Amino acid sequence: MTHPFLDLPPLSAAHFASVEDGVARLLRTEQDVVIMQGEALLPLEGAIRATAGPGTTALNVITGPYGQTFGDWLRDCGATVIDLAVPFHTAVTAGQVREAFAEHPEIDFVSLVHAEAATGNTNPVAEIGEVVRAHGALFYLDAVASIGAEPVLPDAWGVDLCVIGAQKAMGGPAGVSAVSVSERAWARMAANPLAPRRSYLSLLDWKERWIDGGRKVLLHAPAQLEMLALQACVERIAAVGLDAVMARHAAAAAATRAGALALGGGLEPYVRDAAEAAPVATTLRVPSGTVAAELVARALAADPALPLAAGGGALAKEMIRVNHYGSEAAPGAVRASLAALGAALGEQGPGVDVEAALRAADTAWI
Ligand SMILES: *Cc1c(COP(=O)(O)O)cnc(C)c1O
Repeated sequence: MTHPFLDLPPLSAAHFASVEDGVARLLRTEQDVVIMQGEALLPLEGAIRATAGPGTTALNVITGPYGQTFGDWLRDCGATVIDLAVPFHTAVTAGQVREAFAEHPEIDFVSLVHAEAATGNTNPVAEIGEVVRAHGALFYLDAVASIGAEPVLPDAWGVDLCVIGAQKAMGGPAGVSAVSVSERAWARMAANPLAPRRSYLSLLDWKERWIDGGRKVLLHAPAQLEMLALQACVERIAAVGLDAVMARHAAAAAATRAGALALGGGLEPYVRDAAEAAPVATTLRVPSGTVAAELVARALAADPALPLAAGGGALAKEMIRVNHYGSEAAPGAVRASLAALGAALGEQGPGVDVEAALRAADTAWI
């Protein structure tokens, strides 16, 4: 008997190209889309190593842990890096980016994370894109946590390198990712002697050996399972409608925020301004004297399937993440998360009202 996962035929070049076209439609882009055979960190790193070198002056915006990583890669490439770090409870503004250009007109590369699943904020990419374009810098965007949860429009926003992964709001697997690449970005890579070539990290290999050859011959055997899953994921979003998928994430974020505020017990939205809170995940600040990781552990002990996590690293003390993305962007997951957090908080004191939290969440779910 054939096994559904194991006895797969090789994925053809035409099939591979059709999945790329599906991703391009999702991104509403005319740019080349390269699907990479690995988790999103592969194109995130590959795109930086391809475009940055000792001649690069990079403005690296840090609104969460990924920005930190991008700065490390940029420095490793020999780039001069200007870090623009903003507190994790807020978003960066276009004005801050404009000021950075005024101070350092030599900036020719900007790296930015769109939405941060790890810290719960989302940045105004359209406005920032206008500033970046006005100065002619190359614009690199990590849209892994925003694609599917809010609009991601690389062409309209002037993004030169837009990286996505399927594992968050797209509701897909973690093993495949994609990047859209502008003509300007290809030219920068071609002129960069340090850009990876004949390497798994190489975007130029895909340009020269796949795209320029008319997408007839693949570079290596593609990961069939992941490609089939990515295709299914893109087709499901198209069938439901991208707008409906995004609306579900926005509703989950609004309901979680409203529910947490109504819950009491000292829990507060971590991102202070709702307009800067990411639709993909909601972060909450625990009351002083409470350790977030311990509260989350108590909530998960009651139901290990809940989409709850403590913040990473030093944030584990003060931050709770409600990861309401993909199939968890649903009223049931939000309600169950609020109820479990309420029960865990209630163990340590009065003033917690789970019924009020659920009512507020239901009202906010539109
Ligand atoms: C999730 C995510 C990634 C991918 O990283 P993993 O930790 O491997 O899931 C990259 N960038 C951002 C902004 C993300 O939220």
